[in-house]
Amino acid sequence: MIFSVNEVFYSIQGESRFAGYPCVMVRFSGCNLSCSYCDTAYARDEAEEWDFNRLMESIDQFQCPLVELTGGEPLLQTNIQFLTEQLILKGYRVLIETNGSCDINTISPKVIFIMDVKCPGSGHTNVFCEKNLSYIKTDDELKFVLSGRSDYDWAKNFISHYGLWGKVNILFSPVWNKLNIRDLATWMLSDRLYSARLQLQLHKLIWGPDKRGV
Ligand code: SF4
Repeated sequence: MIFSVNEVFYSIQGESRFAGYPCVMVRFSGCNLSCSYCDTAYARDEAEEWDFNRLMESIDQFQCPLVELTGGEPLLQTNIQFLTEQLILKGYRVLIETNGSCDINTISPKVIFIMDVKCPGSGHTNVFCEKNLSYIKTDDELKFVLSGRSDYDWAKNFISHYGLWGKVNILFSPVWNKLNIRDLATWMLSDRLYSARLQLQLHKLIWGPDKRGV
């Protein structure tokens, strides 16, 4: 059983409500999108083929209870379902960060999803797999990466249109060096978005924006 792996490392989780916790990050190679702001473009094509045992050993070595599967797009891995089930059986808390374009129906409901909804600034507004909204759970997270005010307004409309306020965790994350954090904070306060969380990329603040493997 082969996986296309870009890197496995142990660091501080930088995003989602798990930000700040130590976490093993498994970054798979390959992505079906090419977002304008992608900060892991190297993961789209830098790949090594690892078998299941090598991958599990590389995760187990850190003895850390929290594991995130990311990419690239991790749901493109043929055997991702098996891997998540094995990790859960071993007692890991498993997060999957997905770009929102792939059907999550076959993945264990014990997995916590951090799912992108791609805004216009990404260049991929129309890829969202709408039926995922019927599978998503209250402890999953929907993430909107915002390039500017028009993305912010688009995100609010999307959430209202699908009646998602208060039903799932909502993350608003500014594109690094593009949308001013204070502007986003001001808009959220002004609009009284009590059900959305402003998310910073903590790993970039700790290690710097260009450092890989952290
Ligand atoms: S989905 Fe993620 S990994 Fe893929 S291009 Fe967009 S930002 Fe990069």
